[in-house]
This record gives sequence, C-alpha cells and structure tokens, in this order.
Amino acid sequence: NQDWQGKRVTVAGLGVSGIPAAKVLHGLGAVVTVVNDGDDERSRTQAAELEAQGITVRLGDGATLPESTELIVTTPGWKPDKPLFTAAAEAGVPVWGDVELAWRLRGLDGREPAPWLAVTGTNGKTTTVRMLASILEAAGLRTAAVGNIGVSLLDAVLGDEKYDVLAVELSSYQLHWAPSLRAHSAAVLNLAPDHLDWHGSMEAYAADKGRIYEGNRIACVYNAQERATEDLVREADVEEGCRAIGFTLATPGPSQLGVVDGILVDRAFVANRQKQAQELAEVTDVNPSAPHNIANALAAAALARAFGVGPAAVRDGLRAFRPDPHRIEHVADVAGVAYIDDSKATNTHAAEASLAAYDPIVWIAGGLAKGAAFGELVTGAAGRLRGVVLIGRDRALIREALARHAPEVPVVDLDRTDTGAMSEAVREATRLARPGDTVLMAPACASMDMFVNYNKRGEAFADAVRALAAESD
Ligand code: ADP
Repeated sequence: NQDWQGKRVTVAGLGVSGIPAAKVLHGLGAVVTVVNDGDDERSRTQAAELEAQGITVRLGDGATLPESTELIVTTPGWKPDKPLFTAAAEAGVPVWGDVELAWRLRGLDGREPAPWLAVTGTNGKTTTVRMLASILEAAGLRTAAVGNIGVSLLDAVLGDEKYDVLAVELSSYQLHWAPSLRAHSAAVLNLAPDHLDWHGSMEAYAADKGRIYEGNRIACVYNAQERATEDLVREADVEEGCRAIGFTLATPGPSQLGVVDGILVDRAFVANRQKQAQELAEVTDVNPSAPHNIANALAAAALARAFGVGPAAVRDGLRAFRPDPHRIEHVADVAGVAYIDDSKATNTHAAEASLAAYDPIVWIAGGLAKGAAFGELVTGAAGRLRGVVLIGRDRALIREALARHAPEVPVVDLDRTDTGAMSEAVREATRLARPGDTVLMAPACASMDMFVNYNKRGEAFADAVRALAAESD
C-alpha cells in the first residue's frame, strides 16, 4: 500500500466505475480528486457522499487536469480525444481504465491473485462469459463472471470472496485503457464495425480488441471463421509456449475446437495422444442451439480447456447455462407461431446472427441505427423473411434497404416511436405469420428512441405476446 500513500490521483468521471475507484484509492491512502463533466442533481448527491469521506470532487469541469496529478483513472467510456487526456499526455501522466486499476491491485491483500480468462468481441461477450463461468463452476472451481456483468472487477480482486479463476468480460473501451493486462488466456469472438465514433476507425477498434491477447500465457482463442481475429493473435506479443487455438462451426483442424455430426469436439487439448479428438458435448446441450451461440459455447469451452477443465465439466456447464433475458429468449408459442425476444440485438451484426437461426421469420425491427447500413443484413435474410414490421426513429433506413434488396417481402411501417407501438407491432406481425413461423424481435438498432433501454423494449414485447396468448386461450 505504500506506493499509494499520498499519491495524487485524478478519477475521471463519477458513475459506476468512477465512484468505486475513487473510494478504493482513497482507502489506500491516495489523495483523490474526481473530475466530472456534468453538474446535475444526481452528480451533486454523489459528490456530497464522496466529499463526506474526504475525496475532492470537481463538478462541471472534466477537462482540466488537476495540479500535480500523478495518475488518471478514467471511466472507460470517456473518449481518448478528450482535452483531459491531451493534457495528461503533455504532462506525461499515465491513464488507466477500471480494468487496469483492478489488474494492478490484484494480490494487494497478499493473496495469490486468481488468473483471468478474458473475453471480448463485438457480440456474444456476456453470453460467452456466463457460459464459461458455468463450465468452471461445473468443474468445482470457485469463480465468477466479472467485468460489465455481475461482480465488479474491483470487488472480485479486493473483496473477501476467494476465487480460483475469473471469467472476465472486457469491452473495447476497457481494453483501450488497460496497457498492462496479461490474461492467462483470452478470446476475441468476432469483429464487426461498432463504436467506431469512439475509437476513430475500424483499425483502431480492432487494435484495442487485440490488446486482450498481449502477454497471454496459455492460449489465444480466435474465431477460425473470421480471419481478422486470427490476425490479431499473430500481431500479439505473447508468452513463450502460448498457443493459438481456433474455434469453428465446421470440422476442426488440429489446434481447433469445432463441430462434427452434431457434437462439439476438441482437437486442441487432447490428453490422450492416441486420440484425434475429444468429444465435449452435443449441439443440443447449448441453449439456445443457434449457430452463433454454438460458436460462443466453443469459445467458452476453449478457454475452460486451456485452464485444464475436463470434458464432462464442459458438458455439464453448458447444460446448466441459462441465457440472460432478451437474448434470443423464447417468450411463448401462440397458435403455432414462436415469439422470440432478441432485444439485445442492438446492432446489425447481432441481428444477423438471430436472423440466421430461424426460417421463416416475421421480423420486428427498427430504432436508433447509430450510423449503420442495412443492405447486407437485409440481403442475407431476404430468403427467410415472411414479412417485416418496422418501428422506431430510423426505420426508413431499413425500409429503403428492404425495398432495394428484398422488394417482394411485405413490409408494415408503423410510423410510431411511442412505447405503445410494440403491442401494435406484435399484432401486425401475428397477422403476417403462419403456423410454424417465428416472430423475431431483433431490432438491429439501439432502443433509446422509444425505451429507456433494451430491457424495457424486450419487456414491452413479452408483455404484448403474453396479452396475445391470453386472448387466444
Ligand atoms: P455482448 O455482451 O457482446 O453485447 P451478448 O452475449 O449480450 O453480447 O449478446 C448480444 C446479442 O448479440 C444477442 O442478443 C445476439 O443477438 C447476438 N449474439 C450473441 N452471440 C453472438 C455471436 N457469437 N455472433 C453474432 N451475434 C451474437
């Protein structure tokens, strides 16, 4: 703790990562100043609480570097081009994110720190990390899913709970600010354009994701069907003996995990040298067993196997796994039509995955497009679309893409952005659907034009479906 006594640290941003970081650093004896752009009611309440503990807070001024700052600990969402960081660079002050801070504070209490199995990617992070934690638990290991989900990283490394290994979800923002992170093993699930306004370019986004492989000790797990993820492994500086392990939905090559005749098999970590492949689980053990989710399961299995987990625990862990709400969640069957809530499909890459999993589909889509283009998504799904119901602010972008690439598909444009639109959308979708079809709410857009968040959007959909089921009883 001596390193921290009297150290002048600036915490950038109040909020879910800033407040705990400020408290922990203050507890270690650092002289902490929190700077925050906003100066609203909520930040004033938060500031008052911190100030009562002896932490300085500057509201409405997140741009000025406080005098003699030795270190900045930033909220990961703060953009790298902010004036505060320019000032820090000029003054030679290092900037850490919440992940870097947690990484540096590991073992501070004298205990042997738990290794990290880390996961990033444009989509599937939360699902994969939860599957991984489920597998590690099935192996009898003390573990937790941490990062953006469940237990916070700081709690995991400093709290009273003792872990054997951590399943860590990392966003591209967090990785950007985590220069010294060295995972036991790590996976990049996939790479598609997202958050480009923050990173500045696709190259910068990919490079930040690629940091997850830096210094890996045992395995760099990549998507063998996405060249870009393999390239990141090649560019990474890893420990000697660290292996590149691929996962694929096809028959796996050596050093890969994949699928053969409906069985998840491992050709990378085969204990018995005589054996070509180790069977892990059946495709139907994965819930839901849509292709993109099998890929998530293979990535989770690869990380667990890299940690020495046996095949039976992989199967048991996958069987025990239940997806989080609003991720391809089956809500109900009504009159032979399945209703699926994939409200978490907030970008086109995610929606593409769930659209690939069903046929025929009545698709409910629309919301905030965040600058995305829909041509490719619509072209890929066209052959499976029974019809489309559009809601939300940027629905014209999807309508135009449909007119160009799938002109034969019937489209109902609701021209509504109020919360009540969802129940009308469900009614319209039901009118278009025939028995055996799937009504899929996978909007390919963010929800904030109509709802507080994607959870609320999913709940509105589920409520409308349940009302429909009640009527049809
Ligand atoms: P994240 O934590 O990266 O946002 P989630 O596991 O919460 O990812 O899944 C978000 C959405 O992304 C899901 O609802 C699904 O539509 C889609 N998705 C999940 N896994 C994948 C994958 N491997 N590839 C493409 N899309 C996926």
